[in-house]
Amino acid sequence: MSFAQLGTGVSKGIAIGPVHLLYRDELEIPEYVLPEQFIAEEQTRYSAAIILARKQLHDTLEKIPPNTPTDISEFIDTHLLMLSDSALSKAPLEIITKHKCNAEWALKIQRDALVRVFDEMEDPYLRTRRDDVDHVVNSIQRILLNSPVHHSVTPAQEHPHSGHILVTDDLSPADTVLMQHQGIAGFITEGGGPTSHTAILARSLGIPAIVGLHHARERLKDDETIIIDGQEGWILASPDELSLQHYHQKRRQQHLQYIESIRNKDQPAVTKDGKTIHLMANIELPSDIDAVHEIGAQGIGLYRTEFLFMNRASPPGEEEQFATYKGVIDKLNGKMLTIRTIDLGADKQVDGSSQQNAATNPALGLRAIRLCLKEPELFIPQLRAILRASAYGPIRILIPMLSNINELKLAIQIIDEVKADLRQSGIAFDENISIGGMIEVPAAAIRANMFLEHLDFLSIGTNDLIQYTLAIDRIDEEVNYLYDPLNPAVLNLIAMSINAGQLHNKPVAMCGEMAADPRFTHILLGLGLTEFSMHASNLPVIKQVINNSDMSSLAEQTNKIMQCSTYDDFISRLNKFQYNSAV
Ligand code: PEP
Ligand code: MG
Repeated sequence: MSFAQLGTGVSKGIAIGPVHLLYRDELEIPEYVLPEQFIAEEQTRYSAAIILARKQLHDTLEKIPPNTPTDISEFIDTHLLMLSDSALSKAPLEIITKHKCNAEWALKIQRDALVRVFDEMEDPYLRTRRDDVDHVVNSIQRILLNSPVHHSVTPAQEHPHSGHILVTDDLSPADTVLMQHQGIAGFITEGGGPTSHTAILARSLGIPAIVGLHHARERLKDDETIIIDGQEGWILASPDELSLQHYHQKRRQQHLQYIESIRNKDQPAVTKDGKTIHLMANIELPSDIDAVHEIGAQGIGLYRTEFLFMNRASPPGEEEQFATYKGVIDKLNGKMLTIRTIDLGADKQVDGSSQQNAATNPALGLRAIRLCLKEPELFIPQLRAILRASAYGPIRILIPMLSNINELKLAIQIIDEVKADLRQSGIAFDENISIGGMIEVPAAAIRANMFLEHLDFLSIGTNDLIQYTLAIDRIDEEVNYLYDPLNPAVLNLIAMSINAGQLHNKPVAMCGEMAADPRFTHILLGLGLTEFSMHASNLPVIKQVINNSDMSSLAEQTNKIMQCSTYDDFISRLNKFQYNSAV
């Protein structure tokens, strides 16, 4: 039966395809045919995964407090025994040889065989041990999936869910990166918010996506056709022929509109009263650069480097990072590249780093610069790589999630030490490289002037600034309704950051999602913002709004709003302003 449902559209575009329902802990297992010469290497990869799985269990065992019921440690002991049993430690090695397949697929074959045996058991207790098999197998699969084969292999078949619309409860940013490789046409999650990194990545990958579609998996069936509109946030399940034709046609129109929108790519963004505004792009992956040129961005205002660290067993070393950053700067043809140092933690997790233990409030925990200062072995190779790449084109360093000046001083000290090392080794880098800080924590916005005594520029990250100011988790859709960029406290913090830049005569940009939303362009211009950075696809519409604006008149009106002493007055003036400047 055909039905429609509404969620929150987070990545525009229409996708049409069969549904693939995905349940938590259900892993997508790739199948590859391996050339003979890689069999031994694959077996080593499998054995290494078993060793790591055992180590993870031993680590957990050590952390169990002494007064914990013994059931827990017995449970882990059972899993350790299973990992040592030849059914899991040896049999998959033979399957790799016999089927010439990758380790993940060999383990899947063995798991299915073991589960069949358990399913046939009479004893209900023994039958439940099947869950233990799944638990242990999943832990090995996760390790294998994070240490993908590096040599080229032939997929045994096209990815089974290529062209499907994935429907699941939630997706991590790491899962989202993999979706493009799997040819997923669009996705729907039951939870999540529009400024989550999963949503940001979907936009970057150009995959239409909807979040917060409650009970979607209960209402949809595997393989049923659906249409999703990632802008409006609705889905149409089991559409009739007429609807299908209509939305295929609409998809073609959207493509033509996009082509039309990039016609003004070489036109600068200048307000009617002659103020030049810098329009930069945010990128998540080096492959985003093509869109940056296509759309005519003036440079990269935010390169989220943490995605380079995901879906792999160990972080990329200095050489790999250098090659990546150099590759990006080479492709930019002299345009500015702002590289943000790794912002891992919170919803952006990688394997094997200490931030995984933080947990209770990860957004308030060991993330971004805090993690980098705690783990210099993560930070220093990145700084060396960025500095080395700065010899090949204009690069700025951007430090995320600063909350106090001492932290900033420490970061600058490390950068200075890295520079001294490079100098001593005769390695070229830009001696005058600019160092900027993200304004994402209210404490930094309130004292932006003090941060600017040590920094060359600021970039306002409204996704986090709003999250921390209003105390609402950006990935929790239950509190999404409170996520308000126009909250007076948020506007005040933005104003303070911009004013601090004017006072120090240093640039202040905005790279959070607020900068990409045309509903907020007028108020931001009114507050004096002159550099916007956003996903490339939003740039044409923002440029259009800017080119039709009068900055001094907006500043006058905005100033009046910000001066209001009562909330009612503030809201009524703001509403009028928003209404008059609606696009
Ligand atoms: C922000 O917080 O606004 C920002 C740009 O950083 P991220 O979205 O990666 O946290
Ligand atoms: Mg942020």
